[in-house]
Amino acid sequence: MRARTDSDGSENSARPRTQYPQPPYKKQSQKWPGLASDMDPVPDHGEKTYKGSGRLNGRKALITGGDSGMGRAAAIAYAREGADVAINYLPDEEQDAKQVIELIKAEGRVAVAIPGDLRSEAFCQEMVAKAVKDLGGLDILVNNAGRQQTQASIMDITSEAFDATMKTNIYAPFWTIKAALPHLKPGSVIIGTSSEQAMDPSAELYDYAQTKAATTNYVKSLAKQLAPKGIRVNAVAPGPIWTPLQVSGGATMEKLEKFGGMTPLGRAGQPAELGSIYVQLAAADASYATGQVYGSAGGSGQP
Ligand code: NAD
Ligand code: MG
Repeated sequence: MRARTDSDGSENSARPRTQYPQPPYKKQSQKWPGLASDMDPVPDHGEKTYKGSGRLNGRKALITGGDSGMGRAAAIAYAREGADVAINYLPDEEQDAKQVIELIKAEGRVAVAIPGDLRSEAFCQEMVAKAVKDLGGLDILVNNAGRQQTQASIMDITSEAFDATMKTNIYAPFWTIKAALPHLKPGSVIIGTSSEQAMDPSAELYDYAQTKAATTNYVKSLAKQLAPKGIRVNAVAPGPIWTPLQVSGGATMEKLEKFGGMTPLGRAGQPAELGSIYVQLAAADASYATGQVYGSAGGSGQP
């Protein structure tokens, strides 16, 4: 049977393969944590495409790593769905963060910028306090920030580097959730960003991959613990997505060139393709979903 044809002449059935750039990608690398605006091609976070329909009207969200990548896609989508949004990011990412703040404000929503390093418990507490104060409450917490550095051998991972990955990916959500919990009323949600690495770790991501297994695990534990309070806890598990984390994470150029090419869809995903998943998990009509991991990996991996 012939596939239906779009007005632009493309075949619908082929679009998930062809609607975004495919490998080979241009060779590029940035210093950690990198900037979305300096990537080539610049990632799509849904700036021109995401359309809201009031699914998060009046909600108040804090998103870590909200300047770029999945966090930025979630921030844009949340604002267009009617939520006020606070974003956290590293001070070096001010340029990306400013764009997100402007996009949230353009929707007529409150936008709060909270730069700072999540590897400090004191900062995690200050961040939550500022979000609660400036948003006037909190009912969506997205623990999305992450550190990924490729090392071919465990022998090359220093204790400092290992510690930085654990602090960013495991301790920061722990500290942030503890600070946020007293403010979260029934109906609130916590969302973590896990990865296909949780179940299918790459050889060169020894430290990072185990933090993603921890993320999937804490989401399931906390979902059970917080269900009696009416707070839902879920995770998103992306596959290879075109974000600064990938071009500033020390991956070899050969790997980056082919990034996502091994997935059944044959390309890297774009953050924009995951924004609606963060909305779905936060929306009140997903009221029976808790302790779940929603995968989006181009046909590869398992959440
Ligand atoms: P990204 O670079 O856009 O986002 C990561 C963000 O983490 C940065 O923008 C930065 O603001 C934040 N961050 C890192 N260290 C921090 C620190 N110490 N303090 C405060 N903020 C810090 O890349 P992304 O790929 O969108 O990453 C978002 C999440 O998605 C991460 O948890 C990552 O592990 C996960 N993930 C990414 C992929 C992928 O292929 N890109 C795949 C699976 C999971
Ligand atoms: Mg960033």
